Amino acid sequence: MTDFGGALKDRNKVLHFKLAIIGVPFDEKSSYKRGAAAGPEAIRKVSTGKCYNPDTELGVDLAEDTVLVDLGDVDTSGDVLKTFAAVEEKVAEVLDLAAVPVVLGGDHSITYPVVKAMARKFPALDLLHFDAHPDMYEDLYGDRLSHACPIARILEDGLVKNVVQVGIRATTPEMREMARKYGVKVVEAREFTEGLTLEFPNPLYVSLDLDVFDPAFAPGVSHHEPGGLTSRQVIECIHRLRARVVGFDVVELNPSRDISEITAALAFKLIKEIAGRVVKP
Ligand code: MN
Ligand code: MN
Repeated sequence: MTDFGGALKDRNKVLHFKLAIIGVPFDEKSSYKRGAAAGPEAIRKVSTGKCYNPDTELGVDLAEDTVLVDLGDVDTSGDVLKTFAAVEEKVAEVLDLAAVPVVLGGDHSITYPVVKAMARKFPALDLLHFDAHPDMYEDLYGDRLSHACPIARILEDGLVKNVVQVGIRATTPEMREMARKYGVKVVEAREFTEGLTLEFPNPLYVSLDLDVFDPAFAPGVSHHEPGGLTSRQVIECIHRLRARVVGFDVVELNPSRDISEITAALAFKLIKEIAGRVVKP
């Protein structure tokens, strides 16, 4: 059963929707292990209303207080550029309907085409990026579209205004320099403090790479980077956010590395809590 805790409405039976799930089963830009292409399916599978309810911790009922639909997966059968174009187009379609895209990765490379579409709709867009990695390599093994590069591409293209990265613990001197150059605010894992309250003046896009969590909380990712955040720390950060969230993604779930679907369940939990903040800013 694929119903997001019982919150999901049938696209064909509603006139309007506020939140739209888009799956991107794509992992061709993963530099180490493949497997993230199975992420969207694993999140849908785990999210059954037989196990979970549609209520968020802050009291939003995603079944009653909003309209959530699942638009299925983007066609990723073509080459990379065709897939990225399809991602961009799908996100733009959702935005044209004044809805909020909820993108299920897929590896992190897909955030670049998503943010391209977001930036067209929101010329002043802010970005909150949860990750163990800055994803600001100029290129990785010569590949500028690698999942290690989306934030570099987004910054170079000037697609976003204020950028905050949270949970970073695998950076390099080059990426620190890039963060300085572009004025990226970085909250590294080692300096994360309870009660972190982030405020954004512009509409906000949230990109959440599941390896921001300590591998003990989220083993189902391709790159295990110890010393990460707890589930509670990230959820609290989302709860304390002062911003209007206009789109978000949860990426890098690699079900082949997961144990008892605990990372898939965490992905689903995050989607619920972020969606709740969309409904009740
Ligand atoms: Mn990462
Ligand atoms: Mn990443």
